[in-house]
Amino acid sequence: EVTIANLSKKFAATTVLHGIDLTIEDGEFFTLLGPSGCGKSTTLSCIAGLEKPTTGSIAVGDRTFVDIAANTFVPPEGRNLGMVFQSYALWPHMTVAQNLALPLKIRKVDKQQKQSLIDDALDKVGLLHLKDRYPHQMSGGQQQRVALARALVYSPTVLLLDEPLSNLDAQLREQARTWLKRLQSELGITTVYVTHDQEEALALSDRIAVMQEGEMVQVGTPTEIYQEPATAGVAAFVGRCN
Ligand code: ATP
Ligand code: MG
Repeated sequence: EVTIANLSKKFAATTVLHGIDLTIEDGEFFTLLGPSGCGKSTTLSCIAGLEKPTTGSIAVGDRTFVDIAANTFVPPEGRNLGMVFQSYALWPHMTVAQNLALPLKIRKVDKQQKQSLIDDALDKVGLLHLKDRYPHQMSGGQQQRVALARALVYSPTVLLLDEPLSNLDAQLREQARTWLKRLQSELGITTVYVTHDQEEALALSDRIAVMQEGEMVQVGTPTEIYQEPATAGVAAFVGRCN
């Protein structure tokens, strides 16, 4: 499980996260939902280790990644997390296989094992046959899957996805959503998903945290959030007009 305690983040004089407490269960599809600027990406960056929190702690299982009070900070490469960001940015001059090899090279995986890990990850996203293509020779949806395969290639403990479908058009997004959900439940990998799209959050998530201005205003299942919004703000945001 991912345990976040008293997480806050200040950029210069501005506080963008206000003492967040949150526990994400093993195997859960957990979504951070909220309007632009509410602090979703900042939360994910703190989990990934790309940002250092101002206060608080983050642990996965019994491994503390960061604890400001105890002066503990594990850098991103020591956290074994898979990440896909909004701009999925594959290296344009590298083939699919070479794109997947890169994180393994950084982790010093030996050559023989590397090939089978790459094939495995591409097989999971159904794109083994495109192994030798370059990014520009694939559709947006296919590139998206390669980005996901690249995040899965070193068997991360947690998958962090920041608006990974936002580059796709409406129809592809719908397909990718179904497919992503299936893959996540098959792998049973703990997933923290970020979106500002309430429909997407309701369709994909086991639980949702609705964020507003750096706070978690409500945490619950899609049904709870939709049927019993805790505040008028949540109700408005998930599209309920009471
Ligand atoms: P979006 O849906 O638009 O991606 P978000 O919920 O992911 O929004 P964040 O990127 O977490 O929002 O940003 C939260 C707030 O922190 C915003 O007001 C943003 O301007 C500010 N912020 C984010 N990163 C930095 C930074 N490196 N320096 C200063 N302010 C930042
Ligand atoms: Mg963001």
